[in-house]
Amino acid sequence: MQITRNSTGQTTVGSRQWFTGTVYVDQVATPSGRSRLGASMVHFTPGARTAWHAHPNGQTIYVVEGIGLCQRRGGPIEVIRPGDRVFFEPEEWHWHGAAPTRFMTHLALHDVPEGGSAATWGPQVTDEEYGKAPSIDA
Ligand code: MN
Repeated sequence: MQITRNSTGQTTVGSRQWFTGTVYVDQVATPSGRSRLGASMVHFTPGARTAWHAHPNGQTIYVVEGIGLCQRRGGPIEVIRPGDRVFFEPEEWHWHGAAPTRFMTHLALHDVPEGGSAATWGPQVTDEEYGKAPSIDA
């Protein structure tokens, strides 16, 4: 059993390579030994989003705060809210982030292949692509 105290962690800023806008990341689980689970709590500021990317074994995100957006390649942009969960299929290209005027926090869970990486990264989501999001008014 290993307890990692909140006070020993450090919130990191998401890399400019992988995100547009400001994103803060708190580590939740790191793959080690037979456990291949990677998990993080990702805090997107309004308008912030990931670049296009895909996960080798897929990914689940669970929205805990705010209002967010997500899209798979070839599909429409979807509005997501607290309690919504989204599964992205293995190798399915997609992005996720905050709505333009709202923060969004999600828990991200993914199986990281042994010796592999959690994601393959592509281009940023342009303002033109992001601007096609539907209104968040219900
Ligand atoms: Mn993802």
